[in-house]
Amino acid sequence: MATLAALRSLGSHRLPQLAARVAAVRHGARRWNSGVTRDPMTGELTSVPNVEPSQVKISQSSTPKPPPDASSLVFGHTFTDHMLTIPWSSGSGWGAPEIKPYSPIVLDPSATVFHYAQGLFEGLKAYRDANGRITLFRPDMNMKRMNNSAARLALPTFNGDAVIELIKQLIRMDKHWIPDKEGYSLYIRPTMIGTQAALGIAPPSQALLFVICSPVGPYYPQGFKPVALYGTTEYSRAAPGGIGAYKLGANYAPGVLIQKEAAKKGYVQNLWLHGPEHYVTEVGTMNAFVVFKHPNGVTELVTPPLDGMILPGITRDSVLSLARDHASGKSPLAGMPEGKFEVNERPVTMKEVKKAAEEGNLVEFFGTGTAAVISPVDRIGYLGTDVHIPTGPDGMGPVSRAVWKQLVGIQTGKIDHPWSVVVA
Ligand SMILES: *Cc1c(COP(=O)(O)O)cnc(C)c1O
Repeated sequence: MATLAALRSLGSHRLPQLAARVAAVRHGARRWNSGVTRDPMTGELTSVPNVEPSQVKISQSSTPKPPPDASSLVFGHTFTDHMLTIPWSSGSGWGAPEIKPYSPIVLDPSATVFHYAQGLFEGLKAYRDANGRITLFRPDMNMKRMNNSAARLALPTFNGDAVIELIKQLIRMDKHWIPDKEGYSLYIRPTMIGTQAALGIAPPSQALLFVICSPVGPYYPQGFKPVALYGTTEYSRAAPGGIGAYKLGANYAPGVLIQKEAAKKGYVQNLWLHGPEHYVTEVGTMNAFVVFKHPNGVTELVTPPLDGMILPGITRDSVLSLARDHASGKSPLAGMPEGKFEVNERPVTMKEVKKAAEEGNLVEFFGTGTAAVISPVDRIGYLGTDVHIPTGPDGMGPVSRAVWKQLVGIQTGKIDHPWSVVVA
């Protein structure tokens, strides 16, 4: 039964091919190749090889480049000498991983990624830390999120620990690309695409997971510079039941024009306000945080809940976790506002933010993400007027400053923490 359902879901154009395979299986071909097992009754694939780090093929670049001067780096424009690729096919599962010279990928023009956006990505950083080690920040979270994105697109899932192992090998090969300068790091971009050469809309029978690395500088080389946001009410980034909670390429192309429109109006980035209530959702491609000081004396850190429209940011999760440990007294952060402190994941409207600003109850507003870590906001254009947000002399507010210090301390190895995973 399950096989029939699977055949139906794959679309009729693939029926004959699959039916032939199932028939072959029924006639005793239980194992097609090593690591592939099928149900003897239904012929369904029950197991295909997962990503296997021990099978990695490594070829060194014969023309390694000298890493450029760190001060000349522009985010995401420079790539290291090597890349990681892992092919997948529905018949044989994940193939042998390869670490090889950074090079173009050749695809058939009919490859599904070009037509139906069967593509997803991740972003994480490797840091050269205060103790001379190279570390990754919570890579397990990126692998979990990548698997969720893959499942949402009917692309193959994989063993996250195995891919982390391979990413570590890639980083070790190119570790001289991580600038030895405070605030610099190696941005790692794992990606997965559907590569099957066929125009039918179906789960692709072939996919490619690849990882490239780019040395990057600090987002704010001259210290924090608060940004002005344009509150977008004319367009939506995400919708209930949609794909906003997944890091899919399809989420980003439609935002470029909106960002350009915000820039034309004199703002640095846009703030996505959802629905007639104008719910605060995300700051461009960052998660949004608001801090209120309520008349009863409570300081409240708020971020919208993971309701399917919000991207589950790893920086978001880390900020919440550090703030909650402060609130509970488990691990107090220096410099936080005095008095009762609360952390809430709850819906927050732009109207509430505007009212708090007008009444002097707004403490700060900031975005979080891997690239900038924390991005303070000092102004939001909303329905024709500007809402002004307080910022300290260093550009930050009291909560974001305290959390940022702790977070960056962990990322740079000044603070020992299990979130930091040693690569070399
Ligand atoms: C990647 C991303 C974030 C931030 O996630 P991090 O894991 O913290 O880098 C937030 N919002 C969107 C839309 C994103 O794509």
